[in-house]
Amino acid sequence: MKILTVNSLETKKAGQFLAKEILKTSLVNKPLIFGLKGDLGGGKTTFIQGFAKGLGVKEKIVSPTFVIMKKFKIQSPAHRKKFNYFYHLDCYRLEKPEEILDLGLKDIFSNAGNIIVLEWADRVRKVLPENTIWIKFKFISKEKREITIKNFKN
Ligand code: ADP
Ligand code: MG
Repeated sequence: MKILTVNSLETKKAGQFLAKEILKTSLVNKPLIFGLKGDLGGGKTTFIQGFAKGLGVKEKIVSPTFVIMKKFKIQSPAHRKKFNYFYHLDCYRLEKPEEILDLGLKDIFSNAGNIIVLEWADRVRKVLPENTIWIKFKFISKEKREITIKNFKN
């Protein structure tokens, strides 16, 4: 699936739309992992802001570059039937893929109540589960971004 957005609000809306689709699907009992990759300034964090909003996360999402991982509670009771926590990671500063495992990612990846989104996920590709859903962000021009989602409903 390819989406072309022409401003950051549209990118947020795309993230929000994806979150809502996920909450609608019957697929439960497994964690969901999204690997975001692509250009710096490509809209990854912007997309995640909309995604988190769509999940019912109340806190403001900022780039976690300096802390690597942030955990948020999924607030809405309706959504919490399926998912409890949203994890936002930025792998830009990692030296080795294995470092994310030191953050307890093995457990986080195996808990059905979790949704995990990683920025710069291609840097840790080898430690990500096979069912990771890949989303690529391409900087087309000052305002235009191309977002490509793989293995989600097609
Ligand atoms: P990344 O996390 O991939 O480095 P960000 O989401 O942090 O990217 O940055 C994207 C920047 O580009 C933001 O300043 C945003 O306002 C701007 N921007 C302009 N047009 C778009 C668009 N169509 N989609 C997303 N961001 C856009
Ligand atoms: Mg970012």
